[in-house]
Amino acid sequence: MENTNTRVIKVNSLKPEKKAIIEGAELIKKGGLVAFPTETVYGLGANGLDPKAVAKLFTAKGRPQDNPLILHVYSIEQVRELVEDISEEAERLMRIFWPGPLTLLFKRGNKIPEIITAGLDTVAIRMPNNPIALELIKASGVPIAAPSANTSGKPSPTMANHVREDLWGKVNLIIDGGSTGVGLESTVLDLTGNKPIILRPGGITLENLQKIIPNVEEDLSIIKDDKKIVPKSPGQKYRHYAPKAEMLLFTGEVDALVNGISRQAKELIQQGKKVGIMATDETVGRYEEGTIISLGSRKNKETIAHNLFNTLRLLDDAKVDIILCEGMEMSGIGTAIMNRLKKASSGNIKMV
Ligand code: AMP
Ligand code: MG
Repeated sequence: MENTNTRVIKVNSLKPEKKAIIEGAELIKKGGLVAFPTETVYGLGANGLDPKAVAKLFTAKGRPQDNPLILHVYSIEQVRELVEDISEEAERLMRIFWPGPLTLLFKRGNKIPEIITAGLDTVAIRMPNNPIALELIKASGVPIAAPSANTSGKPSPTMANHVREDLWGKVNLIIDGGSTGVGLESTVLDLTGNKPIILRPGGITLENLQKIIPNVEEDLSIIKDDKKIVPKSPGQKYRHYAPKAEMLLFTGEVDALVNGISRQAKELIQQGKKVGIMATDETVGRYEEGTIISLGSRKNKETIAHNLFNTLRLLDDAKVDIILCEGMEMSGIGTAIMNRLKKASSGNIKMV
């Protein structure tokens, strides 16, 4: 399916030009597909109330039909029309964390097409913290379904170029607003059960949420590296965020990581393999062989999150056969970083 005429418009990310927003909104209203930046990653948008437009979105990404989508809104008021009811807890979380990288699950209202929720009785909604995204949603007048604007399974797009690589000829418009801020997807929080549960770690951390809802917990599949545990969120089942190269994630103390990765790299290079290494500022100078890229300083995990998906794509561009990657601590945004790295490596983890 490569027959759509794709246009790219560059816009000012802080003060988006009206003309571009109107063009995007018209396309959304007509059932088209528009890629746009959010503060997390680029989203691929379609009218969330139009099942035909949403079906196109699944096809363009090659997304499994059983993986539900997040609806993006520009105001809390807009949520009221889409859900059965809003608990006090949800109201509080929206007021504190929106616009921002927190997706909330609600009991689904009857306006919402089946295809959005993949048949579930809950619907995922968030308000992105990006002027382009907010103005586009407002001008469209509808909630916008927007999964990440990549081919399903590949690293998520944090720059317009990544969207081009994956979706050229499959979408009507790419709004280029530069590189995204957080660089990882939103946190998905389920508020429809007895206790609030994080289904996917993301931009809003467990520690952020604990301050407001102390009884919040993480889904077991996030905490444990056990392939037998089925995640509650359908999207978390799949190999995801993955580079073309094979990937091996190392966990342990920093010195042990450097020694383990160096040894493995040497062995692989002797076998004739091209090796990529995802290091950090603290360790990058200690590796001798391979295509070595630092994700940023271990003291500033936000930078590591910001650089993660682009680095996976850069190593693919460098045509490495295998990527050896340093693990991080599972605290703050480190939990989301490790979640993406584990999925990218298909659970190929080596403790050193
Ligand atoms: P993406 O938009 O590609 O970043 O993925 C959206 C994530 O939200 C996926 O992991 C979905 O499985 C999850 N999600 C969306 N709607 C629901 C829902 N109703 N219940 C559980 N997870 C959901
Ligand atoms: Mg995605």
